[in-house]
Amino acid sequence: MSNSHQTHVTVIGAGIVGIASALYLQRAGCRVTVLDRSGPGEGCSFGNAGLISPGACVPFSMPEMLWKVPQYLADPLGPLAIRWAYLPQSLPWLLRFLAAGRPRRVRAISRAMAALHSRAFTAYAPLLKEAGAEDMVRHSGQLYASKQEHGIEGGRLVQGLREAAGVKVEVLGSDELHQLEPALSPLYRSALFFPENGYSLNSFRLVQVLAERVVRNGGDILRRTVSGFRFADGRVSAVVTEAGDLPVDRLVIAAGAWSHRLLTMLGTSVPLEAERGYHVMLPDPGVRPRLPVSNRDHSFAATPMENGLRFAGTVEIAGLDAPPDFRRAQILLRHGREMYPGLRTEGMTEWMGCRPSLPDGLPVIDASSNFPSVYFAFGHSHYGLMGAAITGQLIAEMAAGAPPSIDLAPYSVRRF
Ligand SMILES: Cc1cc2nc3c(=O)[nH]c(=O)nc-3n(C[C@H](O)[C@H](O)[C@H](O)COP(=O)(O)OP(=O)(O)OC[C@H]3O[C@@H](n4cnc5c(N)ncnc54)[C@H](O)[C@@H]3O)c2cc1C
Repeated sequence: MSNSHQTHVTVIGAGIVGIASALYLQRAGCRVTVLDRSGPGEGCSFGNAGLISPGACVPFSMPEMLWKVPQYLADPLGPLAIRWAYLPQSLPWLLRFLAAGRPRRVRAISRAMAALHSRAFTAYAPLLKEAGAEDMVRHSGQLYASKQEHGIEGGRLVQGLREAAGVKVEVLGSDELHQLEPALSPLYRSALFFPENGYSLNSFRLVQVLAERVVRNGGDILRRTVSGFRFADGRVSAVVTEAGDLPVDRLVIAAGAWSHRLLTMLGTSVPLEAERGYHVMLPDPGVRPRLPVSNRDHSFAATPMENGLRFAGTVEIAGLDAPPDFRRAQILLRHGREMYPGLRTEGMTEWMGCRPSLPDGLPVIDASSNFPSVYFAFGHSHYGLMGAAITGQLIAEMAAGAPPSIDLAPYSVRRF
């Protein structure tokens, strides 16, 4: 259903954020072209843990973070590692990250997380329905589990943030935990259960299925690398690609961890860093966990997906271009074996992806100050799968000139 009066929007990036934005833009009546140098979902969206956690309202940078930095520098295989060689480049970002952990900032960031995340399932619902993919997302609940007997609830600040956000959470002892998840080793002795959280059965296939829907709706998805922009009459008139210039009317930058490179060419600077994470995928794990489990002792998630059991997580600050250090994936496997006795590893695959992260962990959902017909949708850090659909909805509202469903101030590109 295209007509010559339709607004045309070009989206750079066919990750989950770009594809969800494309679908919402189509729902708002726009004609859409998505550009990506790879296929849909082959960036960070390929291998995440699949968790959709409306209850996630505790920022990564917390007041105690400062005291842990020496440990992060000392242990290249720890849950958060900073490569020495990359320290000079990452230092400004790291200092801002630590500054985001002041208690007052933490509360404001938490409110902004909750505003987005609480809408995750409702924003996905129409997209999944339209794509016939409702079975790809489960409202199963999620466990956070620990080998420690006490302390899983977190300190007063953490509990206060969850209370303020109205997050439903149940504290479980060992017996209750193992009734709910018999596959988990008895070494795990305490847990939190978040009944309103859930997960995607396959993060990559989800992007592909939604991308197919974009095309069936009349959109184009083209394999192109965007290397620059052309400007005319004070606006962006074209994107430069290896296959020539493509004229643009409106533009969405949803290029994940690479977005800042494009923004620089548009005269905007943002402190975007790659928080690199790893996964191991076990296609035939020999155990059948019922629920996704966040391992609170070792900072990763174990997710039972349609194509196997995935252990995914940890953070490595080493820049976008450094080669992966797959010893980090092996550490995930070691901890995973401890969680699920009898684990089989035949056919195992490993992966590394770059989370697009700003120092406060919140995304940028905004219009460019220099070019009002250019929108920004990136920087979803640990929560891009969860935040993609609501981001798409907000970008479509922006493009339609409609009032935003939530206050967009916390996600402004000008906050840095
Ligand atoms: C180990 C791990 C576990 C995670 N677990 C979860 C989780 O459980 N739940 C959750 O919500 N999130 C999770 N995340 C985070 C989530 O995966 C990311 O936030 C999300 O995938 C970001 O999506 P995106 O579309 O912004 O970026 P991407 O998926 O990286 O997409 C960006 C796209 O832009 C393209 N691109 C970049 N530059 C250009 C250019 N110049 N020209 C053309 N194309 C370009 C890239 O090729 C890429 O396809 C996890 C991440 C990791 C690493």
